[in-house]
Amino acid sequence: MWYKFGAAKISLRAGKMLGMAAGLLILLQLPLAGRLKSLDRIFSLPGLIRQHRWHAWAIVLMALIHPLCVLLAEGKMMIPLEMRYWPEWVGVGLLAVLLVQFACTQWRRPLKIAFHHWLTGHRITGLMIAALLIVHVLYVSETFTDNPPPRLAVLAAAGVFTLFWLWVRSAGLRNRRRPFTVTRVENIGRECTCVEVAPEQGISMAYLPGQFAFVSFTGQHLSREPHPFTLASTPSRPGVIQFAIRHCGDWTRQVDGLAIGDRAYLQGPFGCFSHLLHTSPQQELIMIAGGIGITPMLSMLRFMADHGDPRPITLIWSNRSREHLVFTEAFEHLTAKLTGLRRVPIFTQHTDGGKPSERLNRKMLETLLGGCSRKSAVFLCGPPSMMTTLATDLKALGFSARSVITEAFGF
Ligand SMILES: Cc1cc2nc3c(=O)[nH]c(=O)nc-3n(C[C@H](O)[C@H](O)[C@H](O)COP(=O)(O)OP(=O)(O)OC[C@H]3O[C@@H](n4cnc5c(N)ncnc54)[C@H](O)[C@@H]3O)c2cc1C
Repeated sequence: MWYKFGAAKISLRAGKMLGMAAGLLILLQLPLAGRLKSLDRIFSLPGLIRQHRWHAWAIVLMALIHPLCVLLAEGKMMIPLEMRYWPEWVGVGLLAVLLVQFACTQWRRPLKIAFHHWLTGHRITGLMIAALLIVHVLYVSETFTDNPPPRLAVLAAAGVFTLFWLWVRSAGLRNRRRPFTVTRVENIGRECTCVEVAPEQGISMAYLPGQFAFVSFTGQHLSREPHPFTLASTPSRPGVIQFAIRHCGDWTRQVDGLAIGDRAYLQGPFGCFSHLLHTSPQQELIMIAGGIGITPMLSMLRFMADHGDPRPITLIWSNRSREHLVFTEAFEHLTAKLTGLRRVPIFTQHTDGGKPSERLNRKMLETLLGGCSRKSAVFLCGPPSMMTTLATDLKALGFSARSVITEAFGF
């Protein structure tokens, strides 16, 4: 009856379409999260990771509705426990792994899963999902079991995915061809280490000021998992690459145990957070940094100082206290070289008896940016909560959404 009235047919077709869409989207996740430079240049890696997150919601939603539609069309409440239904049960397994992976990603912090454990689990479950998906699609429907062209298309997609996965996972090996040596490890500011590396074979990494790279070290106490850090140095001085690493987790807290002579490997550069990509040469700049979010600004300012850039620049840098400041000398030097630079330090927690100022808010911005052109490009980098509020405040103060460029220090 269902079938005659057409509802079952529609339900079955809708179920299949949703399943196919979810499957395709699953395979697409690898290029999104695979740190591809070609895609980074267009969308920027943080933007791709955001897309990857949104896709997860769509995939889970479609993967949940897909079996409901198919079961409804067949008038069943459940998949029978019979051998011939094994491909459907593979689908159930796939859905279970997908839901576990999704829950661990969305609720990693409340579940108290350490980032590096989560990342390893995410990679393993991602591979399991792809393998289960291919088996499920190949054997669940006569469309693929009996028709060579669609079957070949699925096998080709599986082949391309496998090759691509191998290529992405071998990035570490490829980076080994261009080793760097740690040349400086020094504690600067509070809970922050400055690490400098120099290319071993004289071939440094070409990058734009403000970009970041994934860095791994061969230090004894550190895991080799690459972590993302902004290159605080300037490409106009390619002999040395500098990172300022704030101690905030298990890995960064051990970074001061690095020794001179340890090896470093860099994967990158990535990101589009650079004045060279977003501004015209004379355009006024506003830079707003929270804490260690100063690193991309420092790189851009160093680059501009080396090129004698005369444009007006307002740098607002919010820190908890004076002790949290880093590169104080470098900033003095930059102020002397960059005639258009105006620095506005803000301390939200004075420890030397001074009065703490408020956190940066709309009223303060209105005063501080009163004399700035609304056509300025605004670079914003800091803790996620600060960035969300300030981006809204800047729009309310007359800066267009397009002129506010943001970088979050976390994916
Ligand atoms: C684009 C970008 C630029 C950054 N630049 C700087 C910088 O110049 N200076 C600085 O001090 N910090 C920077 N960070 C933050 C820095 O990457 C993290 O603080 C660091 O990785 C934390 O590692 P952890 O194991 O000590 O802490 P955890 O507590 O394990 O991680 C804290 C957070 O760091 C991120 N993270 C940790 N490990 C990885 C990883 N292997 N791959 C990707 N993300 C990871 C995750 O968002 C995680 O939630 C940047 C982050 C990004 C995304």
